[in-house]
Amino acid sequence: RPLRVAIVGRPNVGKSTLFNRLIGRRLALVDDRPGVTRDRREGEARLGDLALVVVDTAGLEEADPNSLEGRMRAQTETAIAESDAALFLIDARAGVTPADRHFAALLHRTGKPVVVVANKCERSSGEPGFYEAFELGLGEPIAVSAEHGLGLADLTEALVRID
Ligand code: GDP
Ligand code: MG
Repeated sequence: RPLRVAIVGRPNVGKSTLFNRLIGRRLALVDDRPGVTRDRREGEARLGDLALVVVDTAGLEEADPNSLEGRMRAQTETAIAESDAALFLIDARAGVTPADRHFAALLHRTGKPVVVVANKCERSSGEPGFYEAFELGLGEPIAVSAEHGLGLADLTEALVRID
């Protein structure tokens, strides 16, 4: 059975870029219920010997700002509940933000395995954010660059430990 992994985090940290990087050409939109494809995409990926189903959580660009918090929470909690583990992305160049801490608290409560992924680490400007990510209390972060395809071996190792 493939390991089912939800990619979660605040907007603009690079979740969809990592999703696309992981699934490569294997893109398969499997959920065609109206309103669902817009919010959540999933696809199969292979990292070394590890078979994954990767879930990209999105749909946070909702127009009504009053509903944003609620939607973030509900959508993320559903995706995590249905997954074996979560990849929790932060933007290492931006450092850890209050929204990141919000997600960290939510992830703590789920009790699911979490891999903290410090994205946008292709340059040294990501280093302070990478070290800040330890403070989230969700284990050792993995430095990656989804855009440049860096750090995927370390990410694979972390996921193999969960599997
Ligand atoms: P999402 O909202 O979390 O799904 O984030 P996106 O995948 O849409 O990416 C948001 C922005 O970050 C885009 O402009 C991406 O090109 C950029 N981005 C994503 N990954 C990286 C990365 O590894 N390095 C850099 N420098 N930018 C990235
Ligand atoms: Mg996205």
